[in-house]
Amino acid sequence: MHILLIFLDGIGLGENDPATNPFAVAKLPTLHALAGGQRWLRTTPPTETEHGFFVPTDAQLGIAGRPQSATGQATILTGRNIPVILGRHYGPKPTAEIRDLIAEDNIFKRLVSHGMRATLINPFPPAFFERLERGKSLPSSIQYAVLSADIKLLTEAAYYAGQAVSPDWTGEGWTQFLGYTDAPTYSPQEAGHLLAKLAAERHLTFFSTWITDELGHRGPFAHAVQFLERTDGVMAGLLEAWDMQNGLIIVTSDHGNMERQGDRRHTENPVPTVIVGAAAHVFADQLTTLADIAPAVLRYFNLNLA
Ligand SMILES: [Zn+2]
Repeated sequence: MHILLIFLDGIGLGENDPATNPFAVAKLPTLHALAGGQRWLRTTPPTETEHGFFVPTDAQLGIAGRPQSATGQATILTGRNIPVILGRHYGPKPTAEIRDLIAEDNIFKRLVSHGMRATLINPFPPAFFERLERGKSLPSSIQYAVLSADIKLLTEAAYYAGQAVSPDWTGEGWTQFLGYTDAPTYSPQEAGHLLAKLAAERHLTFFSTWITDELGHRGPFAHAVQFLERTDGVMAGLLEAWDMQNGLIIVTSDHGNMERQGDRRHTENPVPTVIVGAAAHVFADQLTTLADIAPAVLRYFNLNLA
């Protein structure tokens, strides 16, 4: 039994407006199939699909204001409503108070304490670790949860060894922006196959990308469409290689942003959660808000809640 959780930062369910919403125009046959043949929009209802469910998920969590990454991710990871505990949304990086809440308990810690294997499958370049060590940058809530469970973040060595998946899916960023001219690159389909293979090797594989949120803040629209179409190709490859009986794929987000191009800010839209696999109902049955994801992960593995 294993879970692959694909976290796409900053994607919400927005208006059916081809001028502002990349989800309204991009060619996304696989993503649409995962929503029962529908586009991922504000009007798309909870839907049972061929292999699972599409569930619009509340990221507002009962607190006014625009949802943010630190509190949204912390909620996904802990199963606690972090914005309610804090009285506000906060981000992008977690404060000491949010870090303490994450360190108390989270899905990575819980699985590791039961002798299970869990990993954040994205590789980080040396400059990332350097900045972290020198206090020049803070870990995200997701990175902090991984570190709190004494799980090592993957390095470029893991990427070269085919043991990690780049946040841009194809690995082009390693050659284009990081100067690794001989870094491996993958087609979207190959990246999907790799993800399926790596997910079968451990209990929880967590893939996270910030690119979707970045495209929401900065655009341009055409790049947002392109990245969604690339993600669609990855999902097609992933589904080709996926073991529906023994594995569960979850796709979700922390808040809206990318689905409303132009204003550069997060939205208050619900986020899509897609669940794929024979045990999908275990997840979908009690899924309403971001706080319901961690309990569902633990339910799937038959672990007790604290
Ligand atoms: Zn953002």
